[in-house]
Amino acid sequence: MMERTKRFFLSENEIPRQWYNIMADMVNKPMPILHPGTKQPLKPEDLYPIFAEEVSKQELNMTDAWIDIPEEVREMYKIYRSTPLVRAYELEKALDTPAHIYFKNESVSPVGSHKLNSALAQAYYCKKEGLTNITTETGAGQWGTALSFAAKAFGLELAVYMVKVSYEQKPYRRSLMRTWGAQVIASPSMSTKAGRKILTENPNYQGSLGTAISEAIELAQTVPNCKYTLGSVLNHVALHQSIIGLEAEKQMEMAGEYPDVVIGCFGGGSNFGGISFPFMRHNILNGKKTRFIAAEPASCPKLTRGVFQYDFGDEAGYTPLLPMYTLGHNFAPAHIHAGGLRYHGAGTIVSQLMKDGYMEAVDIKQLESFKAGVLFAQTEGIVPAPESSHAIAAAINEALKAKEEGKQKTILFNLSGHGLIDMAAYDQYLAGDLQNYELPEEEICKNIEELEKII
Ligand SMILES: *Cc1c(COP(=O)(O)O)cnc(C)c1O
Repeated sequence: MMERTKRFFLSENEIPRQWYNIMADMVNKPMPILHPGTKQPLKPEDLYPIFAEEVSKQELNMTDAWIDIPEEVREMYKIYRSTPLVRAYELEKALDTPAHIYFKNESVSPVGSHKLNSALAQAYYCKKEGLTNITTETGAGQWGTALSFAAKAFGLELAVYMVKVSYEQKPYRRSLMRTWGAQVIASPSMSTKAGRKILTENPNYQGSLGTAISEAIELAQTVPNCKYTLGSVLNHVALHQSIIGLEAEKQMEMAGEYPDVVIGCFGGGSNFGGISFPFMRHNILNGKKTRFIAAEPASCPKLTRGVFQYDFGDEAGYTPLLPMYTLGHNFAPAHIHAGGLRYHGAGTIVSQLMKDGYMEAVDIKQLESFKAGVLFAQTEGIVPAPESSHAIAAAINEALKAKEEGKQKTILFNLSGHGLIDMAAYDQYLAGDLQNYELPEEEICKNIEELEKII
């Protein structure tokens, strides 16, 4: 057998020193984010009461394509970066496809997902700006776990508001956060006005992401030296995640190939943007024709079936208004296991790129995603996060199309995380207890009609 390379790594010296900000190169910039009260375009200063100043500036920076990665952050990246780029020979064999399939393995980060790439950056800026405390909310628990380690790394106290149902159903994510030294609070809680109000009215309320966000934001606004952080959707998060695609670009070069298709699963857009934007810049600037596919769950299809509109970023309607593809902030997605993909909208950068035809989206049903995840586990050995399995399913579909057409095609997808803390979901799938959720058109229309009243 001819010897062949399966995994491609960069040396520490080759880990990128700058993040890539696609907004600087976009032909049509994202429309402005609006203040929820005045409906005027937001200025960085408007974000300072809640977010660190540096990330507030990054959020609205449409001019600098390259932004230096602070040396302290890059030093922490070296714990797990570069992550490997892997040629999935075993999966290719199982599919009997002429396609070459590569994946970027972000599951090797100590917290098990790509979220650490932004958590480290955000914690660093908070520390540098003299803060002592940070806070956030977490649904499935991936962002909370990443931020717990990042807060510890930079010597910050962290309070995580975890939606009560997940707090009870996902004990191991809770344990991880506590192991890294974070305080984990089931939301709604008695520690904030917002939480006390809800609990007084309904003592058995199981919590929602919207309530957890309100509690975290209230804490950031009332506790001195405390700021709030967010793990997806926003532009600065996509910026930090560009490290994924920048490394992948160098690693694909080592493999002697360039992707025809780049795929990422899609919650708010940060890992998709992370793997895609560094390649997409060659479509924008150099006329490359790479396709970019966002893989979203069929039960939460904002890109494939939502509308492009101004909407709130949270369920409660506290955040600024974002121009984005959305199902309406009141949309309550079914309780699929890919918790990280249950978000009603898409980030503003991705939304504009989608509108301008630079990318495509596909929706994947829950059972199809698990089937793909199990095939991936059985061929490549890694049990993927249920979120990541959506990207795998989309990659498999592209590989099977290549086989039908009898054409070689190079596919790159991002493995955003592993599923070792999601085994209860796999148990249910293997026992035949999972189902698909069909989303009736009327439900989408109803939510979107409510939206029209905002702006
Ligand atoms: C949070 C999460 C996602 C979805 O978030 P994006 O911002 O869309 O990347 C996907 N995969 C994993 C493993 C996650 O933890």
